[in-house]
Amino acid sequence: MNAPVPLEAPPCPICGGTAYTLALRGARDHVWRKPGTFEVHVCDACGLAATRPRPTADGLGFYYEGTYSGEGEEGMRRFQTESALGRLIARYRLAVMRKARRLGAADHLLDVGCSYGGFLRVARKDTGCRTSGIDLDAGSIEKAVDRDVTDYHVGLLTGVELGDRRFSVITFFESLEHHTDPVAALRRAHDLLLPGGLCVVEVPNFGGLWRRVFRTYWLPLLIPQHLYHFTPTTLRRALEAAGFQRVVHQQTMFLPLEGIASLGIWLARVLRSPPPGSKPSWRTPIDVTLALALVALYFVFEIPSQAVLRVLGLAGHQTALAIKGESTTQA
Ligand SMILES: [Zn+2]
Repeated sequence: MNAPVPLEAPPCPICGGTAYTLALRGARDHVWRKPGTFEVHVCDACGLAATRPRPTADGLGFYYEGTYSGEGEEGMRRFQTESALGRLIARYRLAVMRKARRLGAADHLLDVGCSYGGFLRVARKDTGCRTSGIDLDAGSIEKAVDRDVTDYHVGLLTGVELGDRRFSVITFFESLEHHTDPVAALRRAHDLLLPGGLCVVEVPNFGGLWRRVFRTYWLPLLIPQHLYHFTPTTLRRALEAAGFQRVVHQQTMFLPLEGIASLGIWLARVLRSPPPGSKPSWRTPIDVTLALALVALYFVFEIPSQAVLRVLGLAGHQTALAIKGESTTQA
């Protein structure tokens, strides 16, 4: 394991444990191709998997630079805020949330890790709810949509000043695993929710089938930007450690993308072995053939297999819906 930035290995955020067992070694950033190799260790006491050791807060800046926003990310912004597929994903998330609560005009929704505000736009238009968003990435918030009606903040949930605002729903879509202390973030969410409020957490499922098959090539591992790797059990434990008494619904999700993408990452690595840090290219005939084969596999294999894995609880993503108790005791 090596990285060009300072590293740290804090205690487990759920149980405070410091005894860990190695689960994966030699993991690297296959998406943005930043240098360094990392390991995933599992807490002996509670089972939470962590990138360990991990970059310090300053070191993480290096791994985020030019990733989630910045040069060339206009396509990502358009995908999230304007594309039909972006809207479909947002509506799927709203449908999962309805298993606990149907949003309406009386609701105030806070999306943590809101990026360009695509989910908030769909939620507001479809349900009439008020919307707020927070993201650590100033570049995303600068270009976020509907700034006249959505209240945006730059920062970490644990540090941002929100005055006396309280929310009926707080969502974390693919964001909790980026937090340096996910339990502290959930605890702040618990504090910011009205009694009876709903917390929605969607994260990759470290217990899923493709994670076991592809190991360090599994796309949602996204290391070292992902600091924690939840299974359904450890996600529930994190919510309970933050004060949520009831997890009313939990399921693995139909989000068909990771199987073929992970296979593509593995093939690119095995067939080409490019030096770490080099830019990906898609220019040779082999690349084009591979890309077409993967697209074909996507339709005949990925979509059906994800549907089956979701039913088995082994899909690559999961959602938990937790309710804040009506009468709460502050820690
Ligand atoms: Zn632990």
